[in-house]
Amino acid sequence: MEKPHRVGLYPGTFDPITLGHLDIIERATKLVDKLVIGVAINRDKGPLFNLEERVAMVDAEIAALGPDRLNHAEIVVHPFDNLLMHCAVEQGAGIIVRGLRAVSDFEYEFQMVGMNDRLNPEVETVFLMATDKYQFIASKLVKEIARLSGDVSAFVSPRVEQHLYDKYNVAPSTGAA
Ligand code: ADP
Repeated sequence: MEKPHRVGLYPGTFDPITLGHLDIIERATKLVDKLVIGVAINRDKGPLFNLEERVAMVDAEIAALGPDRLNHAEIVVHPFDNLLMHCAVEQGAGIIVRGLRAVSDFEYEFQMVGMNDRLNPEVETVFLMATDKYQFIASKLVKEIARLSGDVSAFVSPRVEQHLYDKYNVAPSTGAA
């Protein structure tokens, strides 16, 4: 019998990639043979990092995790600007992976699933939750903390942390006078 080849698409802005995203990526690789990390160009959101920077950070984090933690799944980092469902079909993905944080993500995700199901009922969306200590992490808040020289080491890798301080041109501060 031929080995099943399951392809998943994990879309997001990844501005920047956090330990929450990485936890979802690790979990997703238990479900699929190939995971396409779709980095949305997302001009509307006015990302802090440009597309190249966001993709480079995702690439670096994936390399740092290594094949064992990624369950030897094939990982592709793919920038996309088209409709999510079109991207899924183009990438041969039968599964869209989304992460869920508390209740705040639910309403938006609920609507998206409904709409996407109408657009393409062949593609299933699956939701994963990060481990408890990463569940509350949001790129938006991480950026806010870093901008004000706060310590973001519990939320992102040391590499991403440095990119944030460089971008805001600040040095991390302990808050001590
Ligand atoms: P978007 O621009 O779609 O909000 P994000 O880059 O913020 O994209 O997030 C991509 C996906 O990862 C979303 O499904 C989001 O809910 C999920 N996600 C982000 N952070 C976490 C986290 N800490 N725990 C679980 N899921 C998360």
